Amino acid sequence: MKIYNTLTRRKEEFKPIKEGHLGMYVCGPTVYNLIHIGNARPMIVFDTFRRYMIHRGYDVNYVSNFTDVDDKIINRAIEEGVKSEDISEKYIRECKKDMEGLNVMPATKHPRATEEIDGMIELIGQLIEKGYAYKAEDGTVYFRTRKFKEYGKLSHKNIEDLEAGHGRELKVSGNEGKEDYLDFVLWKPKKEGEPYWTSPWCDGRPGWHTECCVMAKKYIGATIDIHAGGEDLIFPHHENEIAQSEAANEVEFSHYWMHNGFLNIDGEKMSKSLNNFFTVRDISEKYDLQVLRFFMLSAHYRSPLNFSAELMESAKAGLARIKTAVSKLDFLLKTAPGGEADEEERERIKGFTARFDEAMDDDLNTADAVSVIFELVKYINTGADENSSKGLLSLMKEEIVTLSSVLGLIVEEKEELLEDDIEALINERQEARKNKDFKRADEIRDELLKKGIILEDTRQGVKWKRAD
Ligand code: AMP
Ligand code: ZN
Repeated sequence: MKIYNTLTRRKEEFKPIKEGHLGMYVCGPTVYNLIHIGNARPMIVFDTFRRYMIHRGYDVNYVSNFTDVDDKIINRAIEEGVKSEDISEKYIRECKKDMEGLNVMPATKHPRATEEIDGMIELIGQLIEKGYAYKAEDGTVYFRTRKFKEYGKLSHKNIEDLEAGHGRELKVSGNEGKEDYLDFVLWKPKKEGEPYWTSPWCDGRPGWHTECCVMAKKYIGATIDIHAGGEDLIFPHHENEIAQSEAANEVEFSHYWMHNGFLNIDGEKMSKSLNNFFTVRDISEKYDLQVLRFFMLSAHYRSPLNFSAELMESAKAGLARIKTAVSKLDFLLKTAPGGEADEEERERIKGFTARFDEAMDDDLNTADAVSVIFELVKYINTGADENSSKGLLSLMKEEIVTLSSVLGLIVEEKEELLEDDIEALINERQEARKNKDFKRADEIRDELLKKGIILEDTRQGVKWKRAD
């Protein structure tokens, strides 16, 4: 398997620290809102990477955090007059629902920043002891960037570039306690009304960059195989993670760094701050989320990808082609004559796996892997008929279902709920609401949504429709 390593700017053969094992850390979302489809890109891409490594026989330890303490969360809590943890709890729950819809496997561990504060305080203490960090008068702790000689090695920036780019920032930032404008915050004092933790420096909270190094070390090790995230995280987030981690542990933090390109809309990065985003939930009202997943995988993960209605429609049609081929096999299998596939047919089918693996081995070329699945669809459409043996049809089915599932695509038809069952569940939900059992009521709504049934509460009662 070759992967493009941002650190060396080359495609490199992947060599795990421990044979057969992969320890990987993916920066997760800050939970103050429903995730948008840009946030879904790293989730889908690295989940696919994980699935592929499992397919190749690796035992994968996949760690991905939730940043649940941050200015944006605090501001949202103030706006809504609730506690910060109410906001983060809610959006972690919602994020997990979206992940499930996208068929993103839950991480081996989803650590939360607020549960790892002790570890962060310990790391900051070590950095101070080693002279890599210092406390300013107001209790803020900064990292002494210039002391870490390899600073800039991931983003390929040198100190002079950074000086040129950041020269003016100090004057306007109000960070007068910094020794140097390159220094970044490890711990900051609390402000009125903010959540805080007690530390040796002041009551306050950690800076964002500290959480990932602590969690990666705790749940994987001081050196991990792969660290991943969106390309906007290369600088400063990942650069700062390396600096803290390597200064404290004195070993290389991560052997490989993988970064996905942006999901754009009208040529601009989709982001909350530009307000040009669709949430995953918005998309789920119009499409099965498998379509969104398929759309994301139709491009190489490092390329920018422009979101458009046309591309979503073509993803929908593409996925339907695969599903139709599977349905055809299911139909033929019901009446197929017995017998096994012959040698030539077996070889032919094995060839699809070989070409699929070859594409995925080349820095996760999912676009080519999808083309291989389409070739297989063509083979099924032309090669499977009433006279095909059960053995051949079963092999074809196993092949298409397996390759699709490595991409996280479910291509076997779900059983459709009958109208009577839907009505019964809606009645149960109404009953639960009447009894103020809103948890059950929500469960029923979500259960129906998973099966493609969308409920709408209207004045005339509850209406439902099937998602297309
Ligand atoms: P955030 O919640 O902004 O920290 O983002 C969570 C993850 O989503 C990070 O890995 C980001 O790099 C990634 N991300 C955010 N916006 C986009 C986008 N438009 N395209 C691709 N990845 C994104
Ligand atoms: Zn991170």
